[in-house]
Amino acid sequence: MTENLVIIGSGPAGLTAAIYAARGNLMPLVLTGQEIGGQIALTNEVENFPGFPDGITGPELVQLMQKQAEKFGARIEIDVVESVNLKMHPFQLKTQNGLEYETRSLIVATGASPRRLNVPGERELTGRGVSYCATCDGFFFRNKEIAVIGGGDSALQEGLFLTRFASKVNIIHRRDALRAQPILQDRARQDPKINFVWNSVVKEVRGNGKMESLMLENVQTRAVSELPAQGVFVYVGHIPNTGLFKGQLEMNDEGYLQVDAQLHTNIPGVFAAGESHDHIFRQAVVSAGYGCMAEMEAEKWLANLK
Ligand SMILES: Cc1cc2nc3c(=O)[nH]c(=O)nc-3n(C[C@H](O)[C@H](O)[C@H](O)COP(=O)(O)OP(=O)(O)OC[C@H]3O[C@@H](n4cnc5c(N)ncnc54)[C@H](O)[C@@H]3O)c2cc1C
Repeated sequence: MTENLVIIGSGPAGLTAAIYAARGNLMPLVLTGQEIGGQIALTNEVENFPGFPDGITGPELVQLMQKQAEKFGARIEIDVVESVNLKMHPFQLKTQNGLEYETRSLIVATGASPRRLNVPGERELTGRGVSYCATCDGFFFRNKEIAVIGGGDSALQEGLFLTRFASKVNIIHRRDALRAQPILQDRARQDPKINFVWNSVVKEVRGNGKMESLMLENVQTRAVSELPAQGVFVYVGHIPNTGLFKGQLEMNDEGYLQVDAQLHTNIPGVFAAGESHDHIFRQAVVSAGYGCMAEMEAEKWLANLK
């Protein structure tokens, strides 16, 4: 069977595309990746998604999007796309579960993954103190002293969330000014559990079987110091999940897909939505908007094909 539309990815971009495509009777197939929901499922506090004046947790928001897409007939499969052939039409996809699909159109909503620190000890101590998800792991750090790396929205938002568990949250930032929204900055500066460590980068994560400390370097004085911490949460940017499309879809040097204003890639019938191409806004509502746009373009493209 040839699918009308396959959507790769189940973050806000993919699930929004699925809602629109299902309502457009395309019976879309969503291949979710390892888990459903994408990055927004990693946070406990979403206060800026319209329609939820009291806020909503990331996992709840994703569940509602999934329910809405399925209600109109979207099929959602937990599977990872391992290879694509976009040189022939219908396009061909192979997945980790050993399945092969053929589709007339494709929306790439593969988003981005957290950038790692790439320092000694990080890999060995991941899951033993090093984490990229406060919602998933915050609970394990009850009454412990921890660190958060970064100075953007995610670092502050997750740092504030972690104060519910930790006795002290050291926010380590390589500059002396934050990038985060002012409302988050104000809250963090007023929180007695939060301590800022400015102008510092992590050189090493230390511990024997579980994390015990971070070695920090002051970027101005080059002084090295050891900060005791039983956990560290890393929010230092993202890498787009686009390796799968190398050699087939045009991308910039950092791997973000290149699209036109209507989200068409260089291959007719292949569209991109969300953080697979957007390296500027990085917000759930923006990715959801891109999901809607990509689907509307895919629908038009399919109609012309017939
Ligand atoms: C800790 C944290 C807190 C945040 N808080 C907020 C907030 O409060 N408000 C806000 O607006 N935004 C927030 N964001 C940002 C928001 O999560 C992202 O902007 C949004 O999730 C991007 O959506 P996306 O659909 O483009 O990509 P993603 O959410 O990255 O989703 C990508 C999807 O593609 C899938 N995928 C990747 N590769 C494959 C493959 N080979 N095969 C199949 N599937 C694949 C993944 O499994 C995932 O489902 C936060 C992000 C983080 C990390």
